[in-house]
Amino acid sequence: MDIRDLTLDELRAEIVTMGERPFRADQIFDWLYKKKVASYDAFSSLSKALREKLAGRFSIGVLELADKGAAADGTTKFLFRLGDGQHIETVLIPAGRRVTVCLSTQVGCKFACAFCASGRHGFERDLAPSEIVGQVLFLEQALGREPTNFVFMGMGEPLDNWANVEKAIRIMNASEGLAIAARRMTVSTAGLVPAFARLEALDLQVNLSISLHAVTDRLRDRLMPINRRFPLEEVVGAAERYLRSGGRMITLEYILIRGLNDSLDDADGLAAIARRLRAKVNLIACSPIEGQPFETPTDVDVARFKRWLEERKVNTVVRLSKGSDIAAACGQLAGRFKDQAKREGAG
Ligand code: SF4
Repeated sequence: MDIRDLTLDELRAEIVTMGERPFRADQIFDWLYKKKVASYDAFSSLSKALREKLAGRFSIGVLELADKGAAADGTTKFLFRLGDGQHIETVLIPAGRRVTVCLSTQVGCKFACAFCASGRHGFERDLAPSEIVGQVLFLEQALGREPTNFVFMGMGEPLDNWANVEKAIRIMNASEGLAIAARRMTVSTAGLVPAFARLEALDLQVNLSISLHAVTDRLRDRLMPINRRFPLEEVVGAAERYLRSGGRMITLEYILIRGLNDSLDDADGLAAIARRLRAKVNLIACSPIEGQPFETPTDVDVARFKRWLEERKVNTVVRLSKGSDIAAACGQLAGRFKDQAKREGAG
């Protein structure tokens, strides 16, 4: 097991079973997350005997960079090779003073949304907490400072790997860990309704983002197959309960696809849901996706849709479709890598 799979409480319990005092766990967290050291040899505040015991019991994994691509707008995508040869990607998105990191939570995804490359390549496995936190540590080092925002919105459905995502959030949030404020983290979901209750139970002020993308079940069934299991009204109802449980901020993500979900009727439906959830809306103009007939809306279409929402008192932001020249839509880089590996394997 990787030592970074453990929250501070879990590590304290492990340390006690090793016959040591619990505060040793705090010292280990300090080396791992404050001093950001990935070798037991350097843990000079611990005895040699304890360092050897730790090394015999826990590994300290480091993500291996397999590829990297930067787009003209500054968006940078990192492709990591994991210990078992699988690949994940992490995206760094600068926007003014904000620097957002988009973290992956699974290798691939089970939910096969029509507009998403991760879904098309199927599901491989959940990421361990250490592999999620590892992305943060790597990006902090690459950037030379701490990013401002962390969104669990890369490959995978975070609520489908909630136990590990929750541990990663706790390690990131712990003052003895990375000390990242919960309000700077956002968990995204395609609408895995049964898992909302577990998110409600989290005693941290993490933001919630819902990938909505359609305001009728007919269209959402087509774009996001998860909607056939958990239809729109169930998703909105679960989000309402989440809001009542703690009042944390909800954002609705809406990819605008020309001629499909960009009519003013769609905008009316979206405004009604946003008002019900007191949610902000992020509009993203769809980028071309290999094998899909989706069309990118014009700037005029996007502006009209945004204005319609704002006239209905919905706080709306147009997010640029970042880094489309480096395959920045989620899962595209890892997907290409996988396709290439398959071709090489077949050849
Ligand atoms: S959008 Fe999210 S839930 Fe849908 S396939 Fe992609 S990663 Fe999975």
